[in-house]
Amino acid sequence: MRYYDKLVFELSQKGRSAFSLPQAKHEFTPGGVWRESELNLPELSEPDVVRHYTNLSQMNFGVDTGFYPLGSCTMKYNPKVNEQVVPQFDGLHPLQPECTVQGAREVLSFMDKALAEITGMKHFTFLPCAGAHGELTGLMLIKEYHMSRGDTARTKVIVPDSAHGTNPASAAVCGFDIVVVKSRPDGLVDVEDLKPLLGPDIAGIMMTNPNTLGLFERDIKEIARLVHECGGLLYYDGANMNPLLGVVRPGDMGFDVMHLNLHKTFSTPHGGGGPGSGPVGVGEKLVPLLEKPRVSGFHGNFGVIVRACAYILMLGKENVKMAGLLATLAANYIKESLKDCYKLPIPTVCKHEFVFDGLLADNGVTTLDVAKRLLDYGFHAPTIYFPLLFHQALMIEPTETESLQTLDAFIEVMKKIAREAAEDPELLHTAPHNTPIGRPDETTAARPPILRY
Ligand SMILES: *Cc1c(COP(=O)(O)O)cnc(C)c1O
Repeated sequence: MRYYDKLVFELSQKGRSAFSLPQAKHEFTPGGVWRESELNLPELSEPDVVRHYTNLSQMNFGVDTGFYPLGSCTMKYNPKVNEQVVPQFDGLHPLQPECTVQGAREVLSFMDKALAEITGMKHFTFLPCAGAHGELTGLMLIKEYHMSRGDTARTKVIVPDSAHGTNPASAAVCGFDIVVVKSRPDGLVDVEDLKPLLGPDIAGIMMTNPNTLGLFERDIKEIARLVHECGGLLYYDGANMNPLLGVVRPGDMGFDVMHLNLHKTFSTPHGGGGPGSGPVGVGEKLVPLLEKPRVSGFHGNFGVIVRACAYILMLGKENVKMAGLLATLAANYIKESLKDCYKLPIPTVCKHEFVFDGLLADNGVTTLDVAKRLLDYGFHAPTIYFPLLFHQALMIEPTETESLQTLDAFIEVMKKIAREAAEDPELLHTAPHNTPIGRPDETTAARPPILRY
């Protein structure tokens, strides 16, 4: 263990401090409120404090430290100009008089218009604080829509088997029963499997397009027609709308309500639990059900909205479109470059991401081994063992913000790992070899975590 890997409490030396102040006089403090014993705080010099936090930051992996191809998460680079813009707004209080927050209102009004134009929805609410929160909000709108028409028998929501786990979870939290529609072998929703599920008890369907396998649901128009015909609504999970920016609009595909993850598609940083922003957009039918007034205080994680606004303004209309095209190009480039080493179950053109099903050669090296070995080479692992349609899923999403050189470096390392797997499988079973932590027992760490020193 390196010296500075110690905890601050272990580095502490009695009496050491990072500052000196004149001895305080406590004349004005009422009696009887003083602590009887000293606070147990670590005592360190300024260099010790700086080294402690800087070393901690180095034990983690971030978009600012390396390539982060985590599928379904859109870990794109967060431009530093975003961070220069946000402090202009961070003194605001949600209860401030409206006349003093006109700039913030303008941001929300601009974002409402920009996102409506990008998605083909009519209006957005910015209250939801993440994707799943947006899903719940959207489903509540769907429920309210049916209720407001006296249509009370619609208790079921259809979710494809390839859906992100939050979709069925949100539908369940909203009180719906979940009906699963199957995917065909080509990875798209099976329209023939969908037809018999439709009826007067269906509130709607939740879809991701491109879906979790990175494939565009080519039958979406037909699906929209069928679901609308039975009286249901279409919910669009736009967490990863990245590849469609400026190319196709959910509103034009027939969706009635949707959410976007500003913290994925529009560059703002995420991971480690937040903060996020999952604005919900609605088409004509649902506009009357949005909260009123639509521009008021308490607008979710406002800093995230400001970052997304800076990102959209920086790119402008033309380049917002380029973001989607480049993300698609990058994903297909990696897919085609590696399909001789890794099993590619669905070989068609993908959008922003795609899924390998482990190594092509079967010699006991698992997807987990590959993911762990990647860390040794300084790359974050792709998403693994998701989606559940494949046993050794390795889901890669490069985003548009990586250079050709970075993509090539990643491809080179993935090929090298495939060679290592053939020559020295044990090297992979025991990876990673040069990270601060090797293979933690993830179940135990998540179930009874030890959060105190
Ligand atoms: C990330 C993601 C979500 C959930 O978003 P959170 O902000 O983590 O709640 C939902 N659907 C898809 C497809 C996603 O990729």
